[in-house]
Parts: sequence; C-alpha cells; structure tokens
Amino acid sequence: MPLINDCVFCKIIKGEIPSSKVYEDDLVLAFLDIAPFNYGHTLIIPKDHQTSITTLDEIYANRMIAIAPKIGTTMMRVLGAEGFNLFLNNGTVAGQTVWHCHMHVLPRFTEDKVIISSEPLKYESKDQMAEIAQKAFDKLNK
Ligand code: 5GP
Ligand code: ZN
Repeated sequence: MPLINDCVFCKIIKGEIPSSKVYEDDLVLAFLDIAPFNYGHTLIIPKDHQTSITTLDEIYANRMIAIAPKIGTTMMRVLGAEGFNLFLNNGTVAGQTVWHCHMHVLPRFTEDKVIISSEPLKYESKDQMAEIAQKAFDKLNK
C-alpha cells in the first residue's frame, strides 16, 4: 500500500493532516471536502496512492463504488438532502486538482446553487453516432 509523502490525501490517510472522517475500512477512507459545494460533500479515496481511476486496482475501485451510495443515503438522512451526485474528475481537463484518485459524493437540495449541466450537443448523423459506439464497442468487447 504505497503512500506518497507530498500528496495531501496520503497525508490525510497517514493522519499527518486532519480530516473530518465519515467512513474508513481496510481499503478506503471517506472525509468531508474542505471546500464543499454543499454541506456533507464527501471524498472517497483509496488507501493507495494512485493518481487515476484508470490505474487503480479494481479492488479499491469496487469498494469506492460500493460505499458511495451508502454515504449518499446517510448524508440524506443526516442533512435532509433529497438526493446526491456521484462524480470523479479524471485528468486536468475534467477538473482534477488533487492527484490522488477520489470520488465525490455531493448531497443535493432542491434550492441549492450547484450547477452540473452543459448545453447538449447533437450528433451530426446517426452514422456518426453508430461509428463512435462501434469503435468503443470493438475495443471494450474484444
Ligand atoms: P478534484 O477537483 O481534484 O476532483 O477535487 C479535489 C477536492 O479536494 C476539492 O473539492 C478540494 O476542495 C478538496 N481538497 C483539497 N485539499 C483538501 C484537503 O486538504 N482536505 C480536504 N478535506 N479536502 C481537500
Ligand atoms: Zn496520495
């Protein structure tokens, strides 16, 4: 379980910097985000320094996804939230700022100020859509 000295989330795992812990087991740790979009905004991290979900061992990824809805529903009860978003920013272009893989659990309230939306695009044609799907399908199902 290699941890990295200058990684802020590894320091949280090691207890070198404080965190508001909400869940911990042998594989993952979850704590409140220091700059939340809503109260209860939680980060789930693997107890292994991996920068990206793409290189994270499935054993950690599986545990993160298993615990995420439990944290979401618990925050609904604790805070009276009506739902939650799960998201993971992978790569700079996707908004990743901390280079230790983490999943966000964001409690949602009817009147909150969170904006997670984008203007929907249209595919140029059904053929273009089919081609993209087929290329991905061929790689994923070989
Ligand atoms: P990202 O943009 O990489 O998906 O999200 C990183 C998140 O980590 C941000 O929402 C940021 O507020 C949070 N964060 C950064 N440093 C710390 C810290 O030292 N403690 C806590 N609890 N959260 C942090
Ligand atoms: Zn780390």
